[in-house]
Amino acid sequence: IYILAIESSCDDTAAAVLKDSKVLSNVVARQGIHEEYGGVVPELASRAHQQNIVPVVDVALKKAGIDKSELSGIAFTQGPGLMGSLLVGSSFAKSLAMSLNIPLISVHHMHAHVLAHFIDEEGYDKPEFPFLAMTISGGHTQIIKVNSFFDMQIIGETTDDAVGEAFDKSAKILGLPYPGGPLIDKYAQLGNPKAYQFTKPKVDGLNFSFSGLKTQILYFIQKNVKENPNFIEENTNDICASIQNIIIQILMDKIKMAVEETGIKQIAIGGGVSANSGIRNTLKEAESKYGWKTFVPKFEYTTDNAAMIGIVGYQKYLENKFEDYSVTSKARIEF
Ligand code: ATP
Ligand code: FE
Repeated sequence: IYILAIESSCDDTAAAVLKDSKVLSNVVARQGIHEEYGGVVPELASRAHQQNIVPVVDVALKKAGIDKSELSGIAFTQGPGLMGSLLVGSSFAKSLAMSLNIPLISVHHMHAHVLAHFIDEEGYDKPEFPFLAMTISGGHTQIIKVNSFFDMQIIGETTDDAVGEAFDKSAKILGLPYPGGPLIDKYAQLGNPKAYQFTKPKVDGLNFSFSGLKTQILYFIQKNVKENPNFIEENTNDICASIQNIIIQILMDKIKMAVEETGIKQIAIGGGVSANSGIRNTLKEAESKYGWKTFVPKFEYTTDNAAMIGIVGYQKYLENKFEDYSVTSKARIEF
């Protein structure tokens, strides 16, 4: 089975070709334009998708060595995401599926972040059902109980900012360019995580909150810069390491709680923030410390990509879960 997958929910235009669970090509065109604005500008994102989609799909097919006449089906991201961005991907997927007369498959972006673990990849194990997924990205922070490919429920999520936003907004306070998450990670590796103490928010159950932490960091920086104008420059590594440390602690507290509540000891992480080296290391340590088995996807399947849309597309194809051409994009979509 050959699936062409298209992802255009935010600011990356992505296309992938899968042969069953194997990725033949996985192409992403990143939109540098947003860096100038310190965040994604929806109108610009939509326009860039329109420019990128044809060449990105073309390259994905060429790299896979597949002619479009060989495709079995086309999968696309239905939502959640930016409406103008989603529409570019869905319109393209619809018209191509229609012209080739092959099935059209809609995919929930957050299901895809969870199921990216089922891509065949040497050196990467697949979790067994049921497992706990923690999706940590620019727009979401969720703990999900995954019972099967199509049966999953959110058991905890953020009540305000996503963890990716906590990274990006902290980075902004430090004057780092957008998206700042990867830079905090980079500097954190050179710093002392115990240099500065931040307090964890008190949130009931398995839910998260990150907006208070952002304010805490802002006040902390303002206070110190007042005393020493070079505070940030002189202590960047330690500040980043301390910020990353408190975020990891917040995440780990809740996973531990989720393991206790469900009795499930398989933890799979997904979403852009799972690229974070501190989170990866802490989870690895938890394997021997708590007897968990943890799953971290290959780097290219953590941030937004079309291969993860393709693996869900393949699973849906096997179960004949197809859409008709009247299917609409949804900025918000039920889980
Ligand atoms: P969603 O999937 O919820 O719609 P999104 O698609 O914007 O959101 P992703 O592409 O999955 O999110 O992830 C992007 C986020 O991941 C950004 O906030 C970015 O800063 C963060 N990120 C990427 N790499 C790292 C890293 N090494 N450490 C911390 N954060 C990181
Ligand atoms: Fe995403």
